[in-house]
Amino acid sequence: MVDAFTYTGLPARVIFGFGTLSRLKAEVERLGAQRALVLSTPPQQPLAEGVSTLLGERSAGVFADAVMHTPVEVTERAIQVVRDLQTDCTIALGGGSTIGLGKAIALRTDCLQIAIPTTYAGSEMTPILGEMKDGVKTTQRTLRVLPETVIYDVDLSLSLPPGLSGTSGINAIAHAVEALYAQDRNPIVSLMAEEGIAALARALPIIAEHPGDRSARADALYGAWLCGVCLGSVGMALHHKLCHTLGGAFDLPHAQTHTVVLPHVTAYNAPYAPKAMARIAKALGAQDAAQGLHELSARVGAQRALKDLGMPREGIERAADLAVTNPYWNPRPIERGAVRDLIARAWAGDPPATETR
Ligand code: NAD
Repeated sequence: MVDAFTYTGLPARVIFGFGTLSRLKAEVERLGAQRALVLSTPPQQPLAEGVSTLLGERSAGVFADAVMHTPVEVTERAIQVVRDLQTDCTIALGGGSTIGLGKAIALRTDCLQIAIPTTYAGSEMTPILGEMKDGVKTTQRTLRVLPETVIYDVDLSLSLPPGLSGTSGINAIAHAVEALYAQDRNPIVSLMAEEGIAALARALPIIAEHPGDRSARADALYGAWLCGVCLGSVGMALHHKLCHTLGGAFDLPHAQTHTVVLPHVTAYNAPYAPKAMARIAKALGAQDAAQGLHELSARVGAQRALKDLGMPREGIERAADLAVTNPYWNPRPIERGAVRDLIARAWAGDPPATETR
């Protein structure tokens, strides 16, 4: 029997395939934009310059200073460029850091947005913006930051290094895992979650060995899109809260932190979300959801210990305190002792604990 549910669809136009970058200029014209500013991180500037050339007279130029955590200071500089160049559209070419900058600009200027994701983080599908000001990270949810069009070009994902491909892909899987046990879960998003996990789980081990495998890259980007929709559509729980806390408190890398923590939070929640766990395990092709995620992280060669990402041992107690400060929904109540043990295992790189209710 289908349980009662509420489903809210988010507006989205998605263009997916190989070589879809060639459709960018037509898409800018379709949106009625006159001059688009291409955004990127410094390492992706050469690619951004190429995209600017592709846009011809519709390009206003390139702003290549996007960095992690969307600092407000960078956004303010970018907005000055938007105003100076009389830009009415941004093209965010890159991962979550660059897409975050496009969202922050859209929030303040109502610029049209086209996102061209080159990682699997999924920000392009969410109405969520995280920003950093004076060392404090704040998050807000508003439809004003949702891009008008998202162009997924599988060719652009081929250069994502194998290590980051694995962790970025497991970061995407984390959105789907939490969507399956979300308080506001619904059958449509759950279908997307299961399909997203399955696509990524079959693609990531192949990419780890053969980063140029086009078929696996297409599966991974497709899975990342589905998982991004999950993140944007339903509420996240302990896993996302904990990663946000750990990343902010100890300046840990985003995708890698998600990869280490996910099997442990899955084990923590397992006794309280058996249906979700069965679907996750099935999508992974594993007997057990948490163990399956642990094995997947090994197959992609990811680091498995927070201590190896730079978290100090003393941080375990602090992280446990932070994780229990503001109440939020999770299928299993947030128990400080058990959460502390979970963090300690993730810090040491131990396998996830199997818990029973
Ligand atoms: P990122 O955007 O910081 O990219 C990591 C590095 O990879 C950068 O140096 C980038 O230049 C490089 N890179 C990206 N694509 C590449 C490619 N195809 N080839 C070679 N190099 C490439 O990393 P991310 O994990 O995509 O994003 C993390 C950020 O996004 C965090 O700040 C996180 O909070 C945010 N995020 C936000 C949301 C949301 O919904 N608001 C969702 C997910 C992530």
